[in-house]
Amino acid sequence: MRNKKGTPANKIQDLQFFGEFGGVNPSIADSSTFTYLAGKTMGDVFEGTREGCYLYSRHTNPSTSYLGQAIASMEYMNGAILSASGMGAITTTLLQLCSTGDEIISSRTIYGGTYAFMKNYLPKFNIKTTFVNTTKLAQIEAAITKNTKVIYCETMSNPLLEVSDINAIAQVAKKHGIKLVVDNTFTPMIFSPAKMGADMVIHSLTKFINGTSDTVGGVVCSDEEFIGEMIDVNSGSAMLLGPVMDSMRAASILKNIRTLHLRMKKHSENAMYLAIAFQKDGLRVIYPGLKNHPQHEMMKNSMNDGFGFGGMLVIDTKNKEKANELMEEMQNNNLGYLAVSLGFYKTLFSAPGLSTSSEIPEEEREEMGISDGLVRISIGLDNDIERTYNTMVDCMKKVGIL
Ligand SMILES: *Cc1c(COP(=O)(O)O)cnc(C)c1O
Repeated sequence: MRNKKGTPANKIQDLQFFGEFGGVNPSIADSSTFTYLAGKTMGDVFEGTREGCYLYSRHTNPSTSYLGQAIASMEYMNGAILSASGMGAITTTLLQLCSTGDEIISSRTIYGGTYAFMKNYLPKFNIKTTFVNTTKLAQIEAAITKNTKVIYCETMSNPLLEVSDINAIAQVAKKHGIKLVVDNTFTPMIFSPAKMGADMVIHSLTKFINGTSDTVGGVVCSDEEFIGEMIDVNSGSAMLLGPVMDSMRAASILKNIRTLHLRMKKHSENAMYLAIAFQKDGLRVIYPGLKNHPQHEMMKNSMNDGFGFGGMLVIDTKNKEKANELMEEMQNNNLGYLAVSLGFYKTLFSAPGLSTSSEIPEEEREEMGISDGLVRISIGLDNDIERTYNTMVDCMKKVGIL
């Protein structure tokens, strides 16, 4: 449900972690293994009859635990497990939830790596995925079979920035006893999927949460029981496949997450400014903060207050050549970088093309408005967005889009 009172920003602010010598940041646990005073205690930990001891850092480590507590708390969940990449979190979660013969219903416009994993890799284990348009509840319901274990979607999709109605999807999932897994990478703090009924919430930390494009990382948040299953010494996908995050990285991401609320506000404020301005100029602009976005009202009614509609913006340059020309021109004018990824302090742009939308038939892609000329822009933290706008307009005029 809409989260008006407490905000995820308070959850981060209220974290109080001390370092070993009273440091204002927790000490980094720079160790792969941990000593025991008694041999019996170690045996008990292995047998699972004793908890709360660190044993080996592929299982748990104090530094990754601090970051896990922080993100779980921000997501209103009880547990979290960190991984070395977003894909590490996604793949281990799905492999923990699904066994041979099980089925997944997924949004067809998900992140390219997730799509490839479901389409090309999971069939090796006889796990089948049905791809649907998750903004259409009827399509999800129609795809449910007795073997469906997971419904998977992203809060905001690529490249059309479609917003899934997590509240409604969660009701369908609950009714059928299916787990709902939500990738919240595009909208940290903006959406709290667990409050809307998601069972697992995943982030690629590589993007907004870390915000400095200096590392890859991932997390899955859920209840303590599921997180416990994932790190079970005998059967846990995270423990046995081992995509563990390093303690140094966990410590650096924990410092960056302290400024996430400010960054999200600024990303959103800048994106909104540009979306309104370019729409006024006559460009086709996709941004969920605009009234003509198909899920604008639904998003407004289900998101948290105070963080805006996100930092992602898409403009249509009509064809691939123009898209490339514009991106090169913008990079030459130091407006940002022609690079994949998102959530960086500087603006990043890339042409999503058709790569992540290959499941969608050509004619429907056209109808949906997925063209070769789309440029996806992750708007940076520019202090003077009017100056940025003016330079962008110059670039657009130069390549003949405006
Ligand atoms: C980047 C991304 C991922 C994958 O994360 P990595 O950290 O690159 O492994 C997953 N989902 C979404 C929505 C992403 O943007």
